[in-house]
Amino acid sequence: MTTVIKNGYLFVGGQIMQADLLVKDGLIAAIGTSLTGDSVINAEDKLVSPGLVDVHVHYRDPGQTEKENVQTGSLAAAHGGFTTVCAMPNVVPVPNTPELMTKMVRNNDQNGLVHILQYGPITIDEDTDEIPDYAQLKKAGCVALSNDGKGVQNARTMYLAMQKAQENNLIIAEHAQDDALFNHGVINEGQKAKKLHLAPITELAETTQIARDLLLAQKTGVHYHVCHVSTATSVELIRIAKSRGINVTCEVAPHHLLLEEENITGDDAKFKMNPPLRTKRDQAALIAGLLDGTIDMIATDHAPHTAADKQGGFAKAAFGIVGSETVFSELYTKFVKTGIFTLSQLLTWLTIAPAESFGLKKAGKIAIGQPADIVIFNLGKKITINTADFKSKGRNTPVKGDTVYGQTVLTMVDGKVVFQIEENK
Ligand SMILES: [Zn+2]
Repeated sequence: MTTVIKNGYLFVGGQIMQADLLVKDGLIAAIGTSLTGDSVINAEDKLVSPGLVDVHVHYRDPGQTEKENVQTGSLAAAHGGFTTVCAMPNVVPVPNTPELMTKMVRNNDQNGLVHILQYGPITIDEDTDEIPDYAQLKKAGCVALSNDGKGVQNARTMYLAMQKAQENNLIIAEHAQDDALFNHGVINEGQKAKKLHLAPITELAETTQIARDLLLAQKTGVHYHVCHVSTATSVELIRIAKSRGINVTCEVAPHHLLLEEENITGDDAKFKMNPPLRTKRDQAALIAGLLDGTIDMIATDHAPHTAADKQGGFAKAAFGIVGSETVFSELYTKFVKTGIFTLSQLLTWLTIAPAESFGLKKAGKIAIGQPADIVIFNLGKKITINTADFKSKGRNTPVKGDTVYGQTVLTMVDGKVVFQIEENK
């Protein structure tokens, strides 16, 4: 069985070129002109990209499947053009034993529409300093380690975790947060916090822990990955660390690129996430950090919640917004169409960069012999972001109602179509 994707604009080897792409037995078999196959997908005037890669999603499965599960989360990913995602381990129970990890991996494989790789925890759970058996977790299929949602508070625990991770060749992906400095804040420390009379989050809660961890990473040699960097100082610290040869990578979340605290229109939890929306200066530093290579990739931090969990404004609502289904069209519209990023840069940060950083050899590129993980975007199609169209159970997003370009037409995983837009949509 062969399928040919005809006449699209392919993103191959960092370039965009017009060509056909032949899929055979789930793999990319040929790239060229006038290719033929048993079935044909017409991609004329469309962008044919490697399936996007997201190293930061929350699927709440098991434990909080009223918020999301592996089926809905992965269908949302496919709807957004993602074909490989890495799921955070802050589920119930935390997969901190080989048995639980095996169960997670099996659920991801059996019920996921895209490739779902599973993080294991840095510590047994977020409130202990006990380190699980990383070798066993890795054997059971764990892709990397993270306590995302919480920072590792104890420096010695982090030091030991990094040593063990390094021995096992596992990445430590840190949600950098010092809880004492965080001090139960709900919004960035600044004018908005004052105006809305809300508990502030100092940027020091993030930056001091990054500084600490960079020194620990330097000593241990571990691959230290910083989740969702959100401040100018974080970018500067990572820039210095990279220049000194420290093995560090980092991601930025789309909302921190798209929005800053002045965009918060009121006490509305659609703007509540952790880390919070920072200042215009921070936003500019994140954009500059991507452009100069300090920031390696974009990752969504897709964090679905029920409508009830997002009630009560900043003071009461849960942290987190959904991102999988809007990231490409939002960033394409706000950054590529305006000339701030090139299309190749944006695609690189969403495909090959995360795949290479995380050692995901089968993801993130169109090349002969690679799995046929492909997304086709219609860049000319103007759409309005309507949360009723979401496949995720989570509907909370500050970009609702935005008019954007770049509709996902079709997503293919291992040569099989897992998402396709309905006609006339
Ligand atoms: Zn986080």
